[in-house]
Amino acid sequence: MHYAQSAADLIGSTPLLRLQRVTEGIDATVLVKVEYFNPGGSSKDRIARTIIDAAEREGRLRPGGVIVEPTSGNTGVGLALVAQQRGYRTVFVVPDKVGADRRAVLSAYGAEVVVTPAAVPKEDPRSYYSVADRLTREIPGAFQPNQFVNRNGPLAHFQTTGPEVWRDTDGAVTHFVAGIGTGGTISGAGRFLKEASGGRVRVIGADPEGSIYSADPDDPEQIHANLIEGVGVTFVPETFDPEFVDRLQRVPDAESFAMARRLAREEGLLVGGSSGMAVVAALREARELPADAVVVALLPDHGRGYLGKLFDDAWMRENGFEVDEPESLVPTAVL
Ligand code: PMP
Repeated sequence: MHYAQSAADLIGSTPLLRLQRVTEGIDATVLVKVEYFNPGGSSKDRIARTIIDAAEREGRLRPGGVIVEPTSGNTGVGLALVAQQRGYRTVFVVPDKVGADRRAVLSAYGAEVVVTPAAVPKEDPRSYYSVADRLTREIPGAFQPNQFVNRNGPLAHFQTTGPEVWRDTDGAVTHFVAGIGTGGTISGAGRFLKEASGGRVRVIGADPEGSIYSADPDDPEQIHANLIEGVGVTFVPETFDPEFVDRLQRVPDAESFAMARRLAREEGLLVGGSSGMAVVAALREARELPADAVVVALLPDHGRGYLGKLFDDAWMRENGFEVDEPESLVPTAVL
């Protein structure tokens, strides 16, 4: 019999898939690593397991403990599913730009959810960082993983994501592309791939317009909020290592959303906006590359959590994005 002992044992070993349609006119091979195959539906399951393992080892998380974290959703799901198996409670602080359906997912896993305004600076006492810090001080036995600081985040990707890409491409990967939120994915997997290839693999960060990584340091107006969940930050977190990133691609929200919609319709991949962004960046790179190049883009999560947002035509229009509607096959007389 082949079975896993717990949902947490299903984390990692996600598949690579070759893109077929959106790559028209490109000679290089473009592969995507589909992270929604993780049990909680995103790449964040990986860091949840590594962070909780380390906290237990270091005695920072003890039986009956409570995990408190500011999270846009995916990290919460990962932490909730690992925590519940080990008897910990979870409290998540989420910014209000995160959709109601995604908050409901956290509650469904048994977590408590606290909603805070997204449009205030990090230092503001109402910000999701500040509220999480206060709750960590006030709740007895609380441990805050602090994904924007915790080095076990990048470590998880160094130990699992990077090796999987290397193994599944038989070391033929030439370019690795990932969006940047905490920077854990790109820093950890990027470092592994750099080391394994003797520096040959090029690492490309995809960054939404508004985010600090790819902004002109002399122009503060380039740093502003964006609509893609999970990526784009207005401060540089400690979990980001610029050392392993060769190049940044700045991608507008509109292009990221349009690509996510194309991936669903043309590649059978229902993924989130940050996945669309990673693919836009990967295709920009791949367009300049020869046929023997192998570009791997990481797609962090599933699109089902965004049905009321980027997959909803009305939401897209309200937010100023264009949508191309396929011609209907249904005769108007039927309606
Ligand atoms: N996309 C989504 C949907 C995410 O939840 C995250 C993690 N916050 C990322 C991208 C970015 O990954 P990382 O934090 O490792 O940079």
